[in-house]
Amino acid sequence: MQRLYRLLKKDNVSTSPEDLICYGFDASRIQVMPMAVVWPEDTEDVVKVSEFAYENDIPLVPRGAGTSTTGGAVPCRGGIVISLERMDRILEVDTDNLTVLVEPGVINGSLQKELGTRGYFYPPDPASMNFCTIGGNVAENAGGPRAIKYGVTGDYVMALEAVLPDGRLIQTGVRTPKGVVGYDLKSLLVGSEGTLSIITGIRLKILPEPQSIITLLVSFDDLRASGDAVSGIISSKVIPRTLEFMDREAIQAAETYNPCGLKDAEALLIIELDGDLKT
Ligand SMILES: Cc1cc2nc3c(=O)[nH]c(=O)nc-3n(C[C@H](O)[C@H](O)[C@H](O)COP(=O)(O)OP(=O)(O)OC[C@H]3O[C@@H](n4cnc5c(N)ncnc54)[C@H](O)[C@@H]3O)c2cc1C
Repeated sequence: MQRLYRLLKKDNVSTSPEDLICYGFDASRIQVMPMAVVWPEDTEDVVKVSEFAYENDIPLVPRGAGTSTTGGAVPCRGGIVISLERMDRILEVDTDNLTVLVEPGVINGSLQKELGTRGYFYPPDPASMNFCTIGGNVAENAGGPRAIKYGVTGDYVMALEAVLPDGRLIQTGVRTPKGVVGYDLKSLLVGSEGTLSIITGIRLKILPEPQSIITLLVSFDDLRASGDAVSGIISSKVIPRTLEFMDREAIQAAETYNPCGLKDAEALLIIELDGDLKT
């Protein structure tokens, strides 16, 4: 452990019980105490920690914001948690080529906000977007309500920088819309839940923000009719930006938690449409 302390700045390594407890669980609520938590500030730090863990046969578990509900960020056999939260810079917004380059610890919602101020948007929007990280989104290939129209995280990943378990650094992917040559290692890393590498740099595709967004709340007295409405919307070639379904139980649960005047209905559809002003 002394060597680990020497590898990084003092404040970027902890073995204190408070930190070990806080970084020993995620939204799955599984809890396992790691032996240490580290917070790299850059790719070089990630390389150093990876080499150390590899040479000493210590499990190394990457962590974004710990919102995963599947236990991926929980240190299974003890080991070291490597939290990417301090690598949180938006490095480049390239509006000429509609891409952004970010570090893995950037919060999804912060990126959305930054792009919004410039008239652009990044579609993948996990419902945890105000606290989950882009690195975690890539590692989980996260979706979200807008997936119905815009797809999931993997559809927007153009290139990745990643550190392999033994500390080797790789670059994979392209920065152009067309990228068809060679093995598609980038797609292997997307959704790999931290098992293959630690992602340290991410180039994402972005889109111009739609000119107009309309939200509709439609209530149904009959559950089946709501399902038919969903099929009807899709088959009429209108792809909503989001299309969320709530049955009676979900409506009541939401009303109990936070009364907001939802109708007493068998089902609700929350529909969001976007496009330009003409459509
Ligand atoms: C209220 C709530 C709503 C949610 N809604 C959605 C939703 O709509 N859609 C959806 O898909 N998910 C959803 N999730 C699940 C979760 O938020 C997402 O999977 C999110 O992408 C996890 O990001 P994170 O930063 O919290 O990652 P973490 O939970 O910290 O980590 C997730 C996995 O990624 C790995 N990882 C993290 N960072 C890196 C990195 N830099 N390199 C390599 N591996 C890494 C970890 O080891 C772990 O296996 C929701 C969760 C909550 C709590």
